Amino acid sequence: MKRGLVWFTEDLRVDDNETLLKAIEENDEIVPVFFLKSFADQPQFSILRRGLAREKFIRDSLLNLQKKFIDRGGTLLVVDGVPQAELPRLCVEYQIRKVYTKKQVGSEEKMLQTEIKQQLLKLGVDFQTYSTSTLYHPDDLPFSVRDIPMLFTKFRKLAEKESKVRAPFDAPQRIVTPQLEVLPLEVEECSTPEWMIGGEDAALERLNEFVWETQSIRTYKATRDQLTGLNFSSKLSAWLSQGCISPRRIYSEIKRYELEFVSNESTYWVIFELLWRDFFRFSFKKHPKAYFLLNGLGQQALYTQFDPSKFEAWTQGKTSESLINAGMNELRVSGFVSNRMRQILASYWVFGLQQDWRYGAAWFEHCLVDYDVASNWGNWAYIAGVGNDNRGGREFNIEKQTQLFDKDGEYRRTWGEFSKGV
Ligand SMILES: Cc1cc2nc3c(=O)[nH]c(=O)nc-3n(C[C@H](O)[C@H](O)[C@H](O)COP(=O)(O)OP(=O)(O)OC[C@H]3O[C@@H](n4cnc5c(N)ncnc54)[C@H](O)[C@@H]3O)c2cc1C
Repeated sequence: MKRGLVWFTEDLRVDDNETLLKAIEENDEIVPVFFLKSFADQPQFSILRRGLAREKFIRDSLLNLQKKFIDRGGTLLVVDGVPQAELPRLCVEYQIRKVYTKKQVGSEEKMLQTEIKQQLLKLGVDFQTYSTSTLYHPDDLPFSVRDIPMLFTKFRKLAEKESKVRAPFDAPQRIVTPQLEVLPLEVEECSTPEWMIGGEDAALERLNEFVWETQSIRTYKATRDQLTGLNFSSKLSAWLSQGCISPRRIYSEIKRYELEFVSNESTYWVIFELLWRDFFRFSFKKHPKAYFLLNGLGQQALYTQFDPSKFEAWTQGKTSESLINAGMNELRVSGFVSNRMRQILASYWVFGLQQDWRYGAAWFEHCLVDYDVASNWGNWAYIAGVGNDNRGGREFNIEKQTQLFDKDGEYRRTWGEFSKGV
């Protein structure tokens, strides 16, 4: 009997999942596994990497994935341990001939994959990775990873002109696994917004709501900079980061909507933003370590100091700026803030408080449910002026931003006073 092991990470879905499909195609049975523990349990800059809100979202997503497996005749094995120790053991136990998993872009994730690949080599087990998290498949880009343009606009224009987005794969109908023990997963309650429920089903529901039910996609370009509300933007980021939905599935639904209703600047702009996401992921492939360094891709960082009292004030919403306090409270309590607010908060940490940008990025990593290694560190480096566009960074004038986006004070009233966090 041919048996393959599918190592799930940030690809918690059955739809458009080439890794899963390949494993099913090449084997009689598969052993699908997720490991609850990882290096993300180690703090960075003394800040815990994964807060409760993201932990909950991942567990919700696993429960939903488990249901999808059971519906198709199989089970998902959730292991309360680290892959370095558990994966080789499982390969021996289940007589695995090949391990299938998603390609990683972060430096630590890549190092872990290399370590595991070497361990498996000694056991005679093959190890194969698949690119499943971007809109454009890397093999279809008109440049190699080494030659990826430094600037987004050049990347986007070349990709749009010379590549095509592949059609998404459908989910498998049947999944055959051996009898696997189902680990009961405890999910702690926390103060994230009601709509933020992990899992593929919730992701597809949200896509349907944003595109078809409310047709909010029609006006997205005009609304995307708002601070409050559900439908001003897609809110798909957390599902994208855990891979509960693929960007290609989103793209294909947008194209369908454009054919049936309207194709305008707004419908295109969601795709444009997904291209930013691709851009950071591909840039990370080229520079897997540089985005975590003070000087990023090579530009001298403007500020190098770290003052713990400023960090405390910023993270707990106790600075002298009411808009910043509201934004930091929303981030800490709900695990989400709009793109505009993220830019304002990051700019204030770097330029207002004049601090080492990496502590800010690490705090976002802790709080954000949609934390994504490339989008978070790539955007932070960009704002700090040490990333892809290194022309001095991006400083936001708080007074002007307040006038533009919270003139009536609704946002500051909603998030003004909070002491608890996620
Ligand atoms: C300092 C900072 C940190 C950020 N950290 C993250 C992060 O950890 N994870 C994350 O997913 N996004 C991050 N972003 C990007 C962006 O703010 C969020 O993706 C977006 O706010 C999520 O809301 P949405 O799904 O409604 O986005 P929409 O506006 O509906 O956009 C659709 C999708 O496009 C992608 N996207 C949108 N804007 C960006 C962008 N600037 N860069 C990369 N992808 C983008 C996201 O996947 C998003 O879900 C960060 C931005 C900044 C300025």
